[in-house]
Order: sequence, then structure tokens, then C-alpha cells
Amino acid sequence: MTNTPSVKAIVFDLDGTLYEETAHFDYYANRIKDKLPDEKQNLFMRDYQLAVNFEHPLQIGRIYDVENDLILVEQNGRIIEAYKWNGEPVVKEKLSQLYPNKITIDYKRMLNIGDLWWVPISIGAHYGALKEQSQQAFLETRDYMMSDQFKMKPIPGLKDLLEFLYKDIHLTLLTNSPEPDSEVILKKLGIDHLFHKKIFNGKKPVKTKKWFEQLRNEVDVKFSEILSVGDNEVNDIKPVSELGCQTIYIDTYQLGKKTTASYVVNKMSEAIPIIDFLTISKIKR
Ligand SMILES: [Mg+2]
Repeated sequence: MTNTPSVKAIVFDLDGTLYEETAHFDYYANRIKDKLPDEKQNLFMRDYQLAVNFEHPLQIGRIYDVENDLILVEQNGRIIEAYKWNGEPVVKEKLSQLYPNKITIDYKRMLNIGDLWWVPISIGAHYGALKEQSQQAFLETRDYMMSDQFKMKPIPGLKDLLEFLYKDIHLTLLTNSPEPDSEVILKKLGIDHLFHKKIFNGKKPVKTKKWFEQLRNEVDVKFSEILSVGDNEVNDIKPVSELGCQTIYIDTYQLGKKTTASYVVNKMSEAIPIIDFLTISKIKR
């Protein structure tokens, strides 16, 4: 007997999941650049351009160790490679000295470059930008995203899908971004009214499991009946795979890394038919 798909609740990430625009990342990089000393600004922009083109050791899919100023490649929590800023590899003996145990992503000392937000943050940290300055730049960027200047194009089929699911499937938005700007973005996309619950400042990955446990209790579903959809493996996929939830990982940059996701797609529009399939038995047609 085949397993009937039985998703009863879906949790969506926002940034990079429910919209595909990328212009705001350059804006963000420029706001961080503005906060650096003059002599660092060109170096910052040079590294940023290289990094977004995957021509710099610092790139999406890696980790930046702020204290040691090293770029790390991780596998199952263990560091298997490390590079200095100039691309020179760290020798194996030094590597096991520096990272004898599994590492913990704390977004203070260890920055997981899971999406494009973390590229300018990490490069900024290398050139001396303080956490507060990156945070200020982030808020300036969200202001820009709320303005008319930032044009958004809804993902074809997404609004129809959410409208269709809304009656029978519990829909949650779970984002690390703040509420005011996220709400404006949802309004621009015309989908702000299509969630039963919205969680802002979600503090993923630290609190990811907590939110899913809460959802399971509140909505009375099993973990296996919850589907998580997101573009950040560490925040949206790994913690909930461990709980036994179903997952769709949007691998925008086709990192080809080992993933625990149930499904991997390159963009949201490819996830739509999968969501359709997974919810089919729950919807009264
Ligand atoms: Mg995201």
C-alpha cells in the first residue's frame, strides 16, 4: 500500500521563499559599506561582488568564524576545510586543533552563510562592522523594501495555491524578519490575509523546534503531517527534519550540499505542484 500524502499544516519561511527578488541584497551591502571607514569601503564591495559570484572563499553554503577570521566548510557539524580570507587553505593539523569538536552556529562567533543576507554581514564583520551597524543597515534595507521603489513580482501560482489551501490546511508564516516590513511585503504580494498564524522575529534556527512543537499542540497534528517550506537549510529544514516533519528545501543557489529535506527544488514555483500533491487527500474538491 502506498503512503497517502497527509499534510495538514504548512509552515512557510518569508524571505527567499515567498518572493524571489534579489535587488535588496545589493542595497543592503551598500548600507553596510556606508558604515565602514573610507579605506575599507572599496575592499568590502570588491569582496561582496566576488562572493555573490562564488569567486571568493566566503560564499553561500559556508560558515564564517568571526574570531579566527576563517571561512569554514562543514559536514554534519564537523569542519572539514577552512580558508583564510585570501583563499589559502588551513592545513589539516591546524584544523583539528582549532575545531576538535562539532561546532555550534550562534550567529555571533559563528555565522552560517545560509542565504544572501549573510554574505554582506560576514564581509562587513571581516572589515570591522559591528553587529549593531549591520542590524541598522538591515532596518534601512527593510525600509527600502517597504517603499514603492522596491518593486515586487508575485510568484506565479502562489497566491492561488494559498487561497485554495486556506480552508482546509493550517497555514503559518514563520520568519526571522520583523513584523512591520514583513507585513508590507506580504501585502505587496497580495497574500497577507492567507495565513492562520504569523510569527515574526522567529529566531530560527534556535527556536525553530519550539515553534513547530507549539504548532503541533495548538493545531492537533502530528509532526509527520506538518510541512516546512524554506530556502535556508539550517533554519527551515534541518531542525524540523529531526522532528519528523516533511520538508521542501528551496536550493536557490544549487549548493548540492547533503540535505535532510524530503524534497529539493530550485525555486518556489517548482514547490507548488509538490504542495498540491502532499495536501490532495485533505482538500474537499
Ligand atoms: Mg529565507
